[in-house]
Amino acid sequence: MAKKQSAIHEKEGVSQPETTNQLSAEKIKQFRTVKNSTAEFVTNILEGNIPFLSKAITLVESTNSKHQEQANEIIEKCLPFANNSVRIGITGVPGVGKSTFIEAFGKHLTNQGKKVAVLAVDPSSSVNKGSILGDKTRMEQLVTDKNAFIRPSPAGTSLGGVAQKTRESIILCEAAGFDTIIIETVGVGQSETVVHSMVDFFLLLQLAGAGDELQGIKRGIIEMADAIVINKADHGNEKNAKIAQIEFNRALHLYPLKDSKWQPKVLTASAIKSVGIDAIDKMIQEYLSLTKENGYFQQKRHEQNTFWLLSTIEEQLKERFYQNPSIKKALSEEIKQLANGKTTPFLAAKRLLGKEF
Ligand code: GDP
Repeated sequence: MAKKQSAIHEKEGVSQPETTNQLSAEKIKQFRTVKNSTAEFVTNILEGNIPFLSKAITLVESTNSKHQEQANEIIEKCLPFANNSVRIGITGVPGVGKSTFIEAFGKHLTNQGKKVAVLAVDPSSSVNKGSILGDKTRMEQLVTDKNAFIRPSPAGTSLGGVAQKTRESIILCEAAGFDTIIIETVGVGQSETVVHSMVDFFLLLQLAGAGDELQGIKRGIIEMADAIVINKADHGNEKNAKIAQIEFNRALHLYPLKDSKWQPKVLTASAIKSVGIDAIDKMIQEYLSLTKENGYFQQKRHEQNTFWLLSTIEEQLKERFYQNPSIKKALSEEIKQLANGKTTPFLAAKRLLGKEF
């Protein structure tokens, strides 16, 4: 009898149940998704196989330790093939036109034969159980483009956790041949800072005509931006966009020249009409030429890697500490003692950190 094609193999001598209930059927389904060997994953990813890339990212995002272990193996094997890309961060308040812009910009790039991956960092996705960023329905044209790959934000309990998964996904996308990685984020909390620390070029989208152009924008974000694009410069709004361009330009010139020696630029665009997109592409190319020439590009990536090494250590130390059963017990004891005025936060912390974990 021909052997049944299945990802699940019977073990000789182990009797199998005749039927499976709904729960175990679910489990089998999950099992199937991770049954491929690491070598199979790596070969397929390097060939640009999108289903395998997606599955590998699912492993990266999984909280299951076996999945994480395999994800780490895949990442390590993909690493020598990564790095050949430009990583672009895009931020701006909801409604500014991020997805419309990414769609227009992404299409512009794929029309040139480039391969574009769009990832998202949305710290609220764990709360909302699903992200609004990178939502496929918001980039209708790009999602059907065979040279584009769109992935919503991983869910996570901490921004650090979400960011780490995104960084690992970047490596996998690059190994799969994506030469442009776009990371979308929304101006919430620290997410821009985190995205800034994983990209080569950081672009802030803005709107014109909201009175004082600089109001309501965190100073730090303007400081981080390599370019500001005033979007929606259309439908009679062109003049306001020009005024905003001048104001932002003036503001940017107040900052000292960056280590990159790049003077941040302000451009206008209409994402919906695909106007100004080519100029933005050219500007980014100009930035890449400058920073590759003067060594800043590599230096920044190296610094980012060091930063991520340190922050991963921090995350994992914290996780190991708080997940340790004896620490958990001792911590709740210390909190009680604290409430009774029998200890101080400092003494309690010192005692807890003195324990093995
Ligand atoms: P996001 O929340 O930043 O991703 O913004 P969206 O891309 O979803 O856009 C929000 C709204 O602005 C949508 O109704 C878009 O059609 C509209 N929009 C986006 N870009 C432009 C543009 O360049 N011009 C105009 N007039 N509307 C735009």
